[in-house]
Amino acid sequence: MSEFEHMSCRELVETITEYLEGSLPRADLDRFESHLQICDGCRHYLSQMKTTVAALRSLCDDRLQAAQRDELVNLFHGWKRG
Ligand SMILES: [Zn+2]
Repeated sequence: MSEFEHMSCRELVETITEYLEGSLPRADLDRFESHLQICDGCRHYLSQMKTTVAALRSLCDDRLQAAQRDELVNLFHGWKRG
């Protein structure tokens, strides 16, 4: 019998955001990671979450670049008219 209770899948799902942000308390982190070792479903879920978070981040970057590009286009049009 292990000295701590294993985390349930439901608990893992509820704490996954904190885990990805790195704000999960040490005790929960141990339980989170030991659950991953025994549960293929949650390992898969975690890798999907990581992909989603990465996709959201790159989406934000794209928006920023698009805004900068629009500014340059406006600048160019202004120069042409002037
Ligand atoms: Zn699980």
